[in-house]
Amino acid sequence: MENRNIGCTVNECKHNNNGVHCCTLERIQIKCHTPRAESPECTDCASFTRR
Ligand code: SF4
Repeated sequence: MENRNIGCTVNECKHNNNGVHCCTLERIQIKCHTPRAESPECTDCASFTRR
């Protein structure tokens, strides 16, 4: 199973399809971990689950 609309290379996540570098979920939640997002580094995937 794979969702090619969500590209992701986080191999440590159990939702990641390592073969094609995408997420297997239909929907993910993204969050900001700084008061104000200024760059990609300020955001995280809140749907991450350790493999
Ligand atoms: S849940 Fe987030 S971190 Fe995990 S594979 Fe999907 S997009 Fe990547």
